[in-house]
Amino acid sequence: MSDRLTPGVTIWRCRRCGARLFPQRLLCCECHGAEFDAERVHEGVVEEVSVIRHMLGQENWQPRRIASVRAKNGPLMTVGLLDESGPGTAIALFEDGTAPFGRSR
Ligand SMILES: [Zn+2]
Repeated sequence: MSDRLTPGVTIWRCRRCGARLFPQRLLCCECHGAEFDAERVHEGVVEEVSVIRHMLGQENWQPRRIASVRAKNGPLMTVGLLDESGPGTAIALFEDGTAPFGRSR
């Protein structure tokens, strides 16, 4: 997986009010504007971590850590954690395709 990670995660900034959104929405949740510019965000701070221990229909599921991350100047986003980072940790953000991941810098 790691060789497919690209640095940063794409978020969307509303052209009308400047709100930053993730994931992408059809309409801005602040002003209902419909035009956005893509922006890259490269770091954030972990606010909360949860562990997904089971996934229905997955035989060889390994527990995964999922974090709520406050992106720098951006929205709260849910990312997969690649290490043992806990709340309060500044992490670097990556994308694997369109799936966001993070690990401590
Ligand atoms: Zn807006």
